[in-house]
Amino acid sequence: MEATAWIENCNLNHLHCRISNWPVLPARVLDVGCRESYDDIKLVLSKGNSGQYVALSYCWGKGEGMMRTTKSSITSWTQAILWQQLPKTFQDAIKITRKLGIPYLWIDALCIIQDDVQDWEIESANMANIYSNSYLTIAATAASDSHVGLFLDRWTSAEVQNSVKLPIKAHKLSRADEAPDENIFVRPRLHLAHERFKHIENAEYHAEDAPLLTRAWAFQERLLPSRTLHFHAEELIWECKSAVQCECEELDQRYSYERCGMQGWLKNFVTGELHNNRSATRLGNVWLDLVSEFCTLHLTHESDRLPALSGLAYSFSKKALGSYIAGVWEHDLARGLLFETMESKDNLTVNRSQLSAPSWSWASVHLAGPNRISYSRVLRHGFIQDLRFSLIGVYLSSDSSNPFSWVSHGLLQLKGACTMAAIIAESSVPGEPQERKMVLEVGGVQKSIPLDHFISDGVVQHLDNVPLLCILVGHQTYSGINSIEVEACEYVLVLQKISADLNTYKRIGLLLTGNDSWSLRNEPVLTVLIG
Ligand SMILES: [Zn+2]
Ligand SMILES: [Zn+2]
Repeated sequence: MEATAWIENCNLNHLHCRISNWPVLPARVLDVGCRESYDDIKLVLSKGNSGQYVALSYCWGKGEGMMRTTKSSITSWTQAILWQQLPKTFQDAIKITRKLGIPYLWIDALCIIQDDVQDWEIESANMANIYSNSYLTIAATAASDSHVGLFLDRWTSAEVQNSVKLPIKAHKLSRADEAPDENIFVRPRLHLAHERFKHIENAEYHAEDAPLLTRAWAFQERLLPSRTLHFHAEELIWECKSAVQCECEELDQRYSYERCGMQGWLKNFVTGELHNNRSATRLGNVWLDLVSEFCTLHLTHESDRLPALSGLAYSFSKKALGSYIAGVWEHDLARGLLFETMESKDNLTVNRSQLSAPSWSWASVHLAGPNRISYSRVLRHGFIQDLRFSLIGVYLSSDSSNPFSWVSHGLLQLKGACTMAAIIAESSVPGEPQERKMVLEVGGVQKSIPLDHFISDGVVQHLDNVPLLCILVGHQTYSGINSIEVEACEYVLVLQKISADLNTYKRIGLLLTGNDSWSLRNEPVLTVLIG
C-alpha cells in the first residue's frame, strides 16, 4: 500500500512532521474493533484519555438519511454499531484505520451529538485540536457524499476535451520482438490531481473530480492536520507538513508557493510557521489570504461561514493579533475592514437579508457563483493606517459558547476622519444622458467622483440620493512593475445610516480615491457606530 510507505517515510525522514504518539483523544471516538469482526464497532467516551486516532474529512452531501449520532441513538451506539448501518465512506475509513493498526477513528457525524446544540458548540470549538492531533486524516476527496466510499473506479478527463471521462486502465502494447521481460503499458496521462493540488483558483473546477476541495467546511480540515491522505478520483495524494506527493510521482516535492499553490502554501504555514511566528503583520497577511481563499468555497448554509473557519481562527488566536472580532483581528482591524467584492457588477448577488455577521465583516457578504471577496489590493506593500483612525470599542453578542463562531450582533465604535457623501445621477450637459457619480464633501466643497472608484458590497441601484457617511481608514503608496510609476490611494469605508436614534451605520462598500483633491485627510474626526 503506497500510503504505508508515505507514512513510514514521514515518520522517519520528516523532521517537522513529528507528531505526538499519545495525544488527548477527542471527547468521543469510534472504537474500530479488530480486523476479523465487522460488528465490533462502537462509540466510546474518551474521558480525557490519550491515544492514536484517525480523523475523516468528507462531504456530507444533501444529508438526507445521513447516519448521525443523536440523543436517542447514542446509548445503543456506545454498545455496538452494525456494519450495515454505516455508509460506504465510513466503512472504508474503518478498513483503513484497522489496516494501519490505529484503534480509533473520529467522524464528526458520529462523534458529535448532532441534535445537541451545546455538545456541537463544545466539539466544534475543539476542531483545531481534533484535526491537528490526528495520526492521519483520511480525505474522501472524490466523493460528493458519505455513500460514495473511498475506493472508486479511477478516472481522469481527456486534456483536450475536458468533459470526456476516461477510465484509468493500463493497456499492454504488443511488440514485434516479443521481448519477454520488457512489457510496455500505456494509460491516460494523469493531470487533474496535480492541477488541483497546485492551484485552487476557482472551486467550480474541482466539482467533479475533487468535490471535497470545493467545500468551505473541508477547508480547515485540509489545513489543520499534520498529514492527510486524499482519495482523489485519479490517484492517492499525500499531504504532510513537509511534502505533497502522489502515486505517479509527478507531485513529489517540498512545499513552495509556486509548486503547491495558495492552499498548499497555507497548509504549510498553518502546520509549521504559525506556531512560532510573532509578527502581527505577517500573521495578518496570511489571515487575509486565507479568508480570500476560504470565500471561494461553497457552504450549504451561509450562516456557517464563521463556524466553518472557527478551528483556524482558534489556531491563529493567542498570537500577536489580539482579539478575534467576527472574522477580523483586533490588531489588524483596519485592513480587515477593507475587503473588496470581485465580480462583474451585473452578476453580483449579495444577500445580507439574514445576517450571519455584522456588515463590516467579510463574513456578511454572501456572493453567488464564482464571485469572491478579496484583500489582494490592501495586501500589497505600503498600506498605512490613518493616524486618526482607531477602534474605540467592540460590542459583540452571540448565542454560541465558542468565541470563534456565530455572531448575532456586532457593533464597532470607530473614530476617524469623516465626511458626508451621496450617489447622484446627473447630466453634465442639460439634455445629455444622466451619469451616476459619488459626490463627496471635501473641505466644505462638493466633489464628484466617477462611480468606478466605488466598490459596492451589493447592488447600488437603491442608493441614489441616500445620505452616506465616509470614514478614512488608511492609504497606500505603491510602485508599478518598473518601480517608477507611483500610485497612491486612500481607503474609505462608505456607510449608510441604519438607526437614527442610535446613530448606527452599516457598511455598503469601499471608496478608493486616488486623487489629492478628493482626500479626506483634513476632514473632521468623528466617532461612529457600525453594525
Ligand atoms: Zn511528513
Ligand atoms: Zn500524480
